[in-house]
Amino acid sequence: MTISQESRPLQVLIVGAGIAGLTAAIALGQQGHQVVIIEKSRFARETGAAIHVPPNCTALLNWLCINPKDFGGTLLEQIHRYDQFGNLKYLKDFSEIRQKWQAEWYLVHRVDLHNYLKQCAIRTATLHMGCKIVNIDVDSPRPSVTLNNGERYEADLLLGADGLHSVVREVIGQTPPPPFPAGKSCFRWILPTEKLRHLPATQEIVRDPGVFIEWAGNDRRLVAYPCSDNTMFNLCGFLPTAEAGDAAEGWQAVGNKNALIAGFSEFSSEVRELVHAADENLKVWELYDMKSLPSWVRGCSALLGDAAHPFQPYMGQGGAMAIEDAVSLAVLLPAGTQVHEIPARLALYEKARRSRVDLVLEYTRINGVDENDTTVRRITAVTYTADQFQGIYRGKQYHPCDFGEVIQRAKAYNCEKMMLTTMNLGGFHRNLELVRQHPETCTLTLGVHPYHAGEIYASTNEPSYLSQIRELGQSLLREENSPLVAFGEIGLDYEYLDRADKETQARAFKDQLDLAVEFQLPLFLHVRESCADFIEIIRPYLPRLPKGGLVHSFTGSVSEMRQLTDELGLNVSVNGVCFRTEEQLEMVKAIPLEKLQLETDAPWCEVLSGDEKIAPFLEKAREMPPVRKHNKFISGQMVKNRNESCFMERVAMVVAGVKGISVQEVADAAWENSVRMFGLGVRQ
Ligand SMILES: Cc1cc2nc3c(=O)[nH]c(=O)nc-3n(C[C@H](O)[C@H](O)[C@H](O)COP(=O)(O)OP(=O)(O)OC[C@H]3O[C@@H](n4cnc5c(N)ncnc54)[C@H](O)[C@@H]3O)c2cc1C
Repeated sequence: MTISQESRPLQVLIVGAGIAGLTAAIALGQQGHQVVIIEKSRFARETGAAIHVPPNCTALLNWLCINPKDFGGTLLEQIHRYDQFGNLKYLKDFSEIRQKWQAEWYLVHRVDLHNYLKQCAIRTATLHMGCKIVNIDVDSPRPSVTLNNGERYEADLLLGADGLHSVVREVIGQTPPPPFPAGKSCFRWILPTEKLRHLPATQEIVRDPGVFIEWAGNDRRLVAYPCSDNTMFNLCGFLPTAEAGDAAEGWQAVGNKNALIAGFSEFSSEVRELVHAADENLKVWELYDMKSLPSWVRGCSALLGDAAHPFQPYMGQGGAMAIEDAVSLAVLLPAGTQVHEIPARLALYEKARRSRVDLVLEYTRINGVDENDTTVRRITAVTYTADQFQGIYRGKQYHPCDFGEVIQRAKAYNCEKMMLTTMNLGGFHRNLELVRQHPETCTLTLGVHPYHAGEIYASTNEPSYLSQIRELGQSLLREENSPLVAFGEIGLDYEYLDRADKETQARAFKDQLDLAVEFQLPLFLHVRESCADFIEIIRPYLPRLPKGGLVHSFTGSVSEMRQLTDELGLNVSVNGVCFRTEEQLEMVKAIPLEKLQLETDAPWCEVLSGDEKIAPFLEKAREMPPVRKHNKFISGQMVKNRNESCFMERVAMVVAGVKGISVQEVADAAWENSVRMFGLGVRQ
């Protein structure tokens, strides 16, 4: 091959001219590549309602010289959320925060966006419509597609942008996990805003421009927002599929209006009015989810958009992620890219995109959780100050502190609240700094762990260690919505007597219990191989500590657990370290639900999913984000053998399995107990 041949534009074949395929065609065209698009539809009956173009997406469209304002992009100004009876639960105004965004958040009609992208794409690409693919070859050096009329297209690079029911996915993934119904169906219809201005029940909701509104009942919701320069109003009614009536497959399926009316008959009058106003263009489609694919890439072929990762429409990011994929591909395949470089570039594309897409997918799933599903609400204790979260292993710094990502992952895996456990005074200040940065998620404890008991008495300087704790606690408790929710971690640990002897530990425990009585906070307690002494010391204090306390990470026997819960009235929390032996599992089984709390105690106390005793309980556990060794750390990925709050769900699964009850029952009980004891800023 000559040099000039090597540096020629790439020949790119794209299957699917949806949002992802057209954007990829535009972006790759701008890099000078030759693009051919194969599309199944003739776009004769283009359909679809509105779609979000959030700031991350607008910025990329702008980079492609596309401005959503040119096709009716409507600025999102406010979000209102109501319950099904029309009581306002949440209102967010974007006028201030939008100043910080790098680009605007638009609401657009999908057909307008699609038409615009199509016009841009065909300036440089060739679009074949009405194509029926009969064969796809991704194993030859030049991938190809054959149509039912015998035409065959081959290229240097094949991109599968053929949406939810992708055929390219079948060949790239070999036996990929199929999309599965998510249990809900989405009715979609569009009404002229002007019409709604004249209906008594709806004139208020269209009074201001750019308002996104949601009315949520237990297992259903109606979403309404404007598009097309505020002239049209887009409506999506999410109902359990079992109530959606019979419908055909695909984007053109006609919705059953009677089912829609019945589904929202218990909602407020404006919702009923909007539902009654649906016309013959009412569509319905079933929502699908999919387990993540083993790979998006094979040789010189790759998937993007819904073909790689179907999105449900709960966060307005499906189109945005498709556009991000498309632009990422073009950035990684600039003009001058040589054919032999394609596989490595595609591998890089997958590596760059996957963790971000997985995270956004998880947030989307969380947004889609029903109002009456409480399994998402979880709390965990975490030691943020532990070396591992600072990137330090055996005294050596391997990576920067990644606790921000740990918090994001925790949320993506339904862990809403983290209680940062304080080990000593130094750690308290670092915890407080973090709590100030994440006040919605993090709270903290104040106290000295038995390992550090000696520190309390090491210095005779004034103010003494204990009076410093008193002052800190008092000043924090004066704050409205104080982040200080518990006194601890205090107690006894006879396993590691080299850190502090029994006498020092007992003295520190008693001195701190005196302080706890002053603060009237619930206790966060530690007991290891010391249960009898622990009970003897704490018992006389408990009548003066009406908020009680939690013995965390408890690994003792059934009878010890019963003494703590039944005799002393304390709660007990468990994590992965409590599942190591048969005796411990017996103990977990015996914990009364009304005294149970759950935690991860990250970065320690992992749930060992390979442990045969508990593996059956984890069969339905969700896949976790990728893991790497600490010395090969990559931002956005987890660290091998480092526990994180996102594993909280697995703790609940094991406890549920051991007890023979549902995960929801366990999660609900633990959540209620934690909130009752610590508050954690949760409104009940
Ligand atoms: C007609 C339609 C209407 C939609 N309406 C909405 C909406 O109102 N709101 C919303 O949030 N999302 C809507 N979506 C989904 C949304 O566009 C996608 O979830 C998101 O934008 C991801 O885009 P995508 O390009 O990956 O997939 P899609 O936008 O689904 O595009 C996939 C494209 O591939 C084509 N295709 C499929 N199979 C083949 C094949 N075998 N050979 C060739 N081409 C094939 C399809 O015809 C389509 O043009 C709609 C999708 C479609 C196709």
